[in-house]
Amino acid sequence: MIRMNVVPILVLGIMIMVFSFVRFTNIIYARAEEDMVNEAHSVMMAYDIFCSGNYYPVQKADGTTDFYKGDVNLTGDCSIIDRVSGVTGDDISLLYMDVRVNTTFRGPDGQRLAGVSTNADTSERVLNKGQIVQYENVKMFNDKYLVVYVPLTNEDGSIVGMVEVAKSSTSMRSTVGRAVMPMILFVVVGMLLATLLAYRSTREITGVLSGLKEFLNKVAGGNLSTELDINILKRKDELGEIAKSTTSMQKSIRSFVESDPLTKLGNRRYFLNQTERVIARSHENNQPFSIAIADIDFFKKVNDTYGHNAGDEVLKAVANELKQSMMGCGFAARWGGEEFVLCFNKMGMYDASTHLWKTLEKIREMVVRTEGYEIRVTLTFGVVEGYQTTIEKLVEEADEKLYYGKQNGRNRVVTEIEKPEEESAEQPVEIEIPPEAAEIREKE
Ligand code: GH3
Ligand code: MG
Ligand code: MG
Repeated sequence: MIRMNVVPILVLGIMIMVFSFVRFTNIIYARAEEDMVNEAHSVMMAYDIFCSGNYYPVQKADGTTDFYKGDVNLTGDCSIIDRVSGVTGDDISLLYMDVRVNTTFRGPDGQRLAGVSTNADTSERVLNKGQIVQYENVKMFNDKYLVVYVPLTNEDGSIVGMVEVAKSSTSMRSTVGRAVMPMILFVVVGMLLATLLAYRSTREITGVLSGLKEFLNKVAGGNLSTELDINILKRKDELGEIAKSTTSMQKSIRSFVESDPLTKLGNRRYFLNQTERVIARSHENNQPFSIAIADIDFFKKVNDTYGHNAGDEVLKAVANELKQSMMGCGFAARWGGEEFVLCFNKMGMYDASTHLWKTLEKIREMVVRTEGYEIRVTLTFGVVEGYQTTIEKLVEEADEKLYYGKQNGRNRVVTEIEKPEEESAEQPVEIEIPPEAAEIREKE
């Protein structure tokens, strides 16, 4: 993902740089060529001011030719071109036809290169066609030049030669460099900043995404109590919204898989998860906790007598009573069928037992009115105190006490198997079967 965001910025930056460089260079070259043409015209004007009249050649006795303007012999007098060249830094030549008469160009020996001709293409285009001609990268000695040739004309318009202005590539390069460098620096700094910002924000996003991925993987693996990093949840952007939706989804899944649809109590999975936490806390704080299993007495008889729907109503009523009674001291869950489990936080077995006797008293007094019947039930409880063992072991032990209670009169809370007779010897409530219900059952 980092590559996906950073690479386009780098590519874009490089493209802007290349495009700007080419564009700037072309503009600078075009400007330079324009300036050089003006420079050539300035040279011509200077000659016009220096001496009036037309340009013309004069054949000498030794066979060489001198180049005149009016009555002044220009041959060998480089004062004008030297002065202009001194100001502009360009090399300038005055040519009679295609031969340099005066020039600022010097050979390796320091001698001026007078008498050297231009090439045939230049002669053809400047002298015959009257064109202004530019060449880039013309190699002379150890340097390359940008060269401009401008036709030299007399008053009647006839072409007698040309003025050559040449700018060295070294000076062109430094001109281009001076113009382009700030722009390249600006683009490079901008590109680096943009890349840094993109890198940082992408790294932050990928960090959040991997946090979310890790969280979802745990949830998918069945760990419904895992918690998402609070910093991700606190985010005020779309990722924060996704994080909140994800935790809401986790809560929905959790309540879906951990609750019993009939009684609305937590189910066995809920009980096991919550009790694990209670056990961990108990170990940390060195505080006791207790677990109880409750089973409705003669529940089959309730179903058989009043029907399965009435049985469901009884289950709901008992569940509700247990839930109410556990408020503030722990929680109740449905273990399965007509059995419930209760977990007492920070409470020893004997306190839990006292509490359960009160709960049992309330259930004994409870009347479930459904389908025209009034149904009463009792419960038997087995209670154990938590110590360093597994939930399975605790439940098993509580179950043994529950079984013992069932064997010894039901409708009671069992804490000790050895001394059942010391506990209440209350008798189970007799379930009265109304005659009409008995008839219905018989018909069935
Ligand atoms: P004991 O006092 O020994 O516990 O006797 P019991 O009749 O309560 O025990 P038993 O295990 O024989 O019967 C339990 C009954 O609970 C059998 C089953 O049909 C009923 N039962 C289990 N789950 C549900 C339920 O969700 N709804 C209803 N209506 N009945 C259920
Ligand atoms: Mg049972
Ligand atoms: Mg039962």
